[in-house]
Amino acid sequence: MKVFVLLGAPGAGKGTQASLVANRLGAAHISTGALLREEIKSGSSLGLKVRSIVESGSLVDDTTLFECFAGSLVRAKEAGRKILLLDGVPRNLSQVRILDEVLLKMNLKVDAAIDFEVSKDVLIARLSNRWTCQKCSAVASGNAEGLAPSSCNSCGATDSYARRIDDEPASVAKRLGVYEKETAPISGCYHEMGLLFRLNAHQDPELVYLDVGAVITKKLK
Ligand SMILES: [Zn+2]
Repeated sequence: MKVFVLLGAPGAGKGTQASLVANRLGAAHISTGALLREEIKSGSSLGLKVRSIVESGSLVDDTTLFECFAGSLVRAKEAGRKILLLDGVPRNLSQVRILDEVLLKMNLKVDAAIDFEVSKDVLIARLSNRWTCQKCSAVASGNAEGLAPSSCNSCGATDSYARRIDDEPASVAKRLGVYEKETAPISGCYHEMGLLFRLNAHQDPELVYLDVGAVITKKLK
């Protein structure tokens, strides 16, 4: 199994690409958010621990996170997956080392890190063009002018879309600042290890997919 770390700011399109690679190439995809939600849902003792941390409003510590991670790593390997995509792990430099240790125990390593490069202006425009229906909580993208659809795609309510506080431009700029400080050094680290591939994530998703697919195919050979 080849392991690919997806790097890039929120809004860079990592989730979209991960779904495409999962559907078309049969990759396993581990994203931190989904990982924690599944562990809670499983009702395991680890899940109960995660739930109490999340409910207290704290960030899940590295030890607990990687315990959850190891479980889904084993499942992906046992299912015979050839490709594993990681989204949200590692989120800082110390997790880069922990990840290597966890992978090494299973005779795995990070094979490549793919960095989705998007300018800050584009990210702010993309992220603040996310609209949430106040009736049914469905999320939709606005049009090219940055305006919400006039009626909800899910429940049909009219003029029901508003921005979540998180998606206001000021909040978005703050989230991106946090990302840059915590996560951007990771790409420097993978660059030094000779594992970093940068790609232009401004392009149409199908064009981005060609670049992502090229990196993966090269490593599978
Ligand atoms: Zn709705």
